[in-house]
Amino acid sequence: MDRKQFLSRSLQTVAGAVLAGPVLLRAAGTPDSINPDGRTSSTDRDDPPLLGPLVFAQVPLPYSYDALEPSIDRMTMEIHYTKHHAAYVKNVNEAILAEGVAATTEEEMLKHITDYSAKARNNAGGAWNHNFFWQVMGPKKNAPTGKLLDAINGSFGSMEKFKEVFADAGMKRFGSGWAWLVSADGKLEIGSTPNQDNPLMGISELKGKPLLALDVWEHAYYLKYQNKRAEYITNWWDVVNWETVAGRLG
Ligand code: MN
Repeated sequence: MDRKQFLSRSLQTVAGAVLAGPVLLRAAGTPDSINPDGRTSSTDRDDPPLLGPLVFAQVPLPYSYDALEPSIDRMTMEIHYTKHHAAYVKNVNEAILAEGVAATTEEEMLKHITDYSAKARNNAGGAWNHNFFWQVMGPKKNAPTGKLLDAINGSFGSMEKFKEVFADAGMKRFGSGWAWLVSADGKLEIGSTPNQDNPLMGISELKGKPLLALDVWEHAYYLKYQNKRAEYITNWWDVVNWETVAGRLG
């Protein structure tokens, strides 16, 4: 699977399942089995497909743990992916079962996130945000071109100014959180969210379609950079995958 298919799958897994057939009934009990795409299997072809509980999946990392060195060190990547992100995914799926979350897509759950517990909110955000974060980074040096570059220049004046505003959003996020570039109403916007909130959450002040995200939790940089968040952000620009960002802009 190439990166594009991969991103598409990770972000649209459950949406695709919904589009695959009419959903007339949600599973009332434990489904017999759940396919990787989140659908329950049905042995009776006359039955409409049943949807099991929403399941978040941790997408495979699209590069090796050391691929983003020296910007992001191997140990940070490995712990971030196998411990932090894995825990968010495990915990959100626990919360979905415990709370009987009725949302059928990740996006729907995020939009109505205040219907659920703090555990559901923190871990749904953590699961989604990291799946997104891995995709917007990569080892291949590249830069925005074409429509994306035009949009950045149009919204922020220049690439340098854009980077300055984005880095500032990351620096000014007190404590843990994320900096974002989103598109909303045809315009690009920069902002940040606390903890594991994101712009898809109904409760978020910053709203829009995420194009780029930067994790500014200390766990994302402390092993290599300690308290130097600014240096982490400066070096992070070298591993942004602008092709993914451009693909998100469409
Ligand atoms: Mn993180």
